[in-house]
Amino acid sequence: MSKEKKTAIQPKREENFPEWYQQVIKQADMAENSPIRGCMVIKPWGYTLWENIRNVLDKKFKKTGHVNAYFPLFIPLHLMEKEAEHVEGFAKECAVVTHHRLQSDQKHGLKPAGKLEEPLVIRPTSETIIGEMFAKWVQSYRDLPLLINQWANIVRWEMRTRLFLRTTEFLWQEGHTAHQTEKEAWEETLTILDIYKDFAEEYMAIPVLTGEKTENERFPGAIKTLCIEAMMQDRKALQSGTSHFLGQNFAKASNIQFQDQNGDLSYVWTTSWGVSTRLIGGIIMVHGDDNGMCLPPRLAPTQVVILPIIKNDSEKEYVFDYCNKIAVALQEKQYYDKQIEVSLDTREMNAGEKSWEWIKKGVPVILEIGPRDIQNDSVFVYRRDKTRPERYSQKRDIFIDEIIDVLDTIQNALFNRAQAFRNEHTREIDDYTSFQQFFTPHKKSDLEIFGGFALSHWCGSTECENKINEDLSVSIRCIPLSKEKSDKGKCILCGKQSMGRVVFARAY
Ligand SMILES: [Zn+2]
Repeated sequence: MSKEKKTAIQPKREENFPEWYQQVIKQADMAENSPIRGCMVIKPWGYTLWENIRNVLDKKFKKTGHVNAYFPLFIPLHLMEKEAEHVEGFAKECAVVTHHRLQSDQKHGLKPAGKLEEPLVIRPTSETIIGEMFAKWVQSYRDLPLLINQWANIVRWEMRTRLFLRTTEFLWQEGHTAHQTEKEAWEETLTILDIYKDFAEEYMAIPVLTGEKTENERFPGAIKTLCIEAMMQDRKALQSGTSHFLGQNFAKASNIQFQDQNGDLSYVWTTSWGVSTRLIGGIIMVHGDDNGMCLPPRLAPTQVVILPIIKNDSEKEYVFDYCNKIAVALQEKQYYDKQIEVSLDTREMNAGEKSWEWIKKGVPVILEIGPRDIQNDSVFVYRRDKTRPERYSQKRDIFIDEIIDVLDTIQNALFNRAQAFRNEHTREIDDYTSFQQFFTPHKKSDLEIFGGFALSHWCGSTECENKINEDLSVSIRCIPLSKEKSDKGKCILCGKQSMGRVVFARAY
């Protein structure tokens, strides 16, 4: 590793964060833009990360009683229009299919032939189509609760797109549940929020705040939207998952009724909830550094990479053989319900280049092994969570014995670093001048201390919320669920009575 002083990613984070972000994705070979405007191609390194996210969450959903199903990509327009707020909220983002080409004259290639009797919306979310089916499936209280999840793709038309963060098509899971009582549906909304929080913190190593969205930011058609919010390294917030309490809005729109124990008909109470490939953007922006991606071990596609260092062909066989034995020994170990993923990289290329490639991909542990290491029965270890490339030699059997601990140490180090960063950039602010200063640094040196999460009082009015957003492009990310009642104060803008602090930040 000759380039120790140079960083692998240009520009650095502090120079141009958005460009740094694009470069990390490119250098780690995670995804790229496609010929279709706004749609991304997720490459194997990025997709395996998504698969790992999916597998962990899928287990958690199933453990809490949910089952997977699949619903159509197309939603007839009349279904979308059933819930008034919902259709209004998504109207501008919908891609709509209006033509087919059955019976078309072949000479005209793919020109549309016939107009559809009813336009089909490509799902921007599936409440309406799933509601339509729930209405058929639910007859009696015995059919409840219905706890369904779907892994699918979604289309929301976007003009300005960014890989993983905002794309026209993306992958996600959407949970949809129906319950007998309001209480049960609300508990479900909270249960899912907990699952998202635990997943973000334990697996993604990202500390999150939980809370409720304001009316402005609520899911169209929901009574309450709960969310997890994380702080990125540019101190902006990323909404990383949402859990919606839909009350009886969608039940009434789709006529989902059940006969209760007394024989009376009632509408069910529903919820919906989702996380998407956006989480990958969050992992990059929280953990990535000026040398590229930095993956939390519990989700990394590969936890350990072994790089044989060979000077001439005569060394090849016994070096490869030694490396192979280590790979096999590591693969026999279990890390979070899975065997450790090991890559043995035997490609014939410059050792330094090879090593940088894996650093940029963010693999937690890289081993370099050459003839001299083998003589000492040891390995050269590099830990990706360290800011400066730092390597140490270790006896082979000790390395193998301690690998689980090392992976957990890295996992915890990433979480602690992210949490310390968030804490450092979170403050209680009680006057509007300081609030403005916090979000508008005047000197370049201010950049290091300004911006982040402001915990400030808010009167609850949409007017104040909108005014702050217009002035500073700062929004209310969430109203914390556990507000301390004693913490009363005055609205940061209008000075009226507030019931507690809310979280203000710039957001993605
Ligand atoms: Zn106010």
